[in-house]
Amino acid sequence: MFNKQTLRDFELKGKKVLLRVDFNVPLNSNLQITNDKRIRETLPTLRYLMEHGAKIIIVSHLGRPDGKVKPEFSLKPVAEKLRELLKMPIILTDDVGDSDTFKYVRGMKEGDIVMMENVRFDPGEEANDTDFAKKLASLADIYCNDAFGTMHRAHASTTKVAEYLPSCAGLLVEKELKVLGSALEEPKRPFVVLIGGAKVKDKIGLISRLIEVADVVMIGGAMAYTFLRAEGHNVGKSIIEKDKLTLARLLIEKAKKQNVKLVLPVDHVVTAEFSFSAEFVITSTKKFPKAGMGMDIGPKTVNLFSHYIHKAKTVFWNGPLGVSEFQRFAKGTNEVAEAVASSKAFTIIGGGDSAKSIEQLNLQTKINHVSTGGGAALKLIEGVSLPGLQAISEKL
Ligand code: AMP
Repeated sequence: MFNKQTLRDFELKGKKVLLRVDFNVPLNSNLQITNDKRIRETLPTLRYLMEHGAKIIIVSHLGRPDGKVKPEFSLKPVAEKLRELLKMPIILTDDVGDSDTFKYVRGMKEGDIVMMENVRFDPGEEANDTDFAKKLASLADIYCNDAFGTMHRAHASTTKVAEYLPSCAGLLVEKELKVLGSALEEPKRPFVVLIGGAKVKDKIGLISRLIEVADVVMIGGAMAYTFLRAEGHNVGKSIIEKDKLTLARLLIEKAKKQNVKLVLPVDHVVTAEFSFSAEFVITSTKKFPKAGMGMDIGPKTVNLFSHYIHKAKTVFWNGPLGVSEFQRFAKGTNEVAEAVASSKAFTIIGGGDSAKSIEQLNLQTKINHVSTGGGAALKLIEGVSLPGLQAISEKL
């Protein structure tokens, strides 16, 4: 259960709050923001702080500048977007906690917002450096972490800084933890889980944990081929992870023992090569061609997955069910996305590519919770402790 201090536990009037957010938004080649969800999701925290008279100092990273100042990773487009969304002036300093930041912070009034440049311009950030964390802490009275998407990283502005200031979680972090936590701790049943994507390696722990709490676990995407192979099926040239076959077998056994239905694809969109324009055939698992490669789930699998989704009271989905970057092979993912959106269950999307698919199809308003943190959401569900969360003080 969520037992961390939140903004509501603090007297904020006149206090300087160092607010770590995750404004790591996608940019196009003209450095324009292509999806501002992460910024919009932080507005409740910003408004709460302003209404309570805090002075807000925003810290965020953007991309991977590797500890160097690189103009293409500047937070300028983000500051511009924030000005537009909040309809107020926001200062973007040209350093990270040095003289320019100090100059503006000193002159702040209640409700003002000052944003520092990309925190990853300083090598101290990713190194979780003590001196850098102390420098950030010296700017403020309170530290608030609302960067859910970055909570699985132990960096100076996500963990170390909390050692030097009273700390709390922001409203977005609180919301994410409550939704993801209650789905795991007391899901309305049947609890149906859908996992796709490429690497079994990355999601073994997640699947293993979900088998302990879900009623049905459905696996699609390239990962399904390792599981199908582990069951003894021929999967042609599809991507499999040979060194994970034993683990896949163990998970199949675990599901059986726990009486959890593990559902694998029954048909496939198969090509001769990995290409966006490749010709394809649809075949059953039994008739998988030796020289073929599975690029997407087939229509019978879409129906099968949709059947369980419609019976569910809670649905959790992460990972594409085929090579969804190629339009031709996005059909399975898109149709399952429609099924999730039209389901009456409490629906949760665990960030990443599946969140992207939902947004591209404009279905986000039909989903109960689209997480802002792919990696962080998966780690949390897996039961791995998040350094950013650990660092925040518990409720007194
Ligand atoms: P992940 O980051 O593990 O969620 O994996 C996402 C990636 O899985 C996407 O780039 C998809 O193209 C890829 N993927 C999904 N299904 C397949 C498949 N059948 N064959 C190859 N790659 C796939």
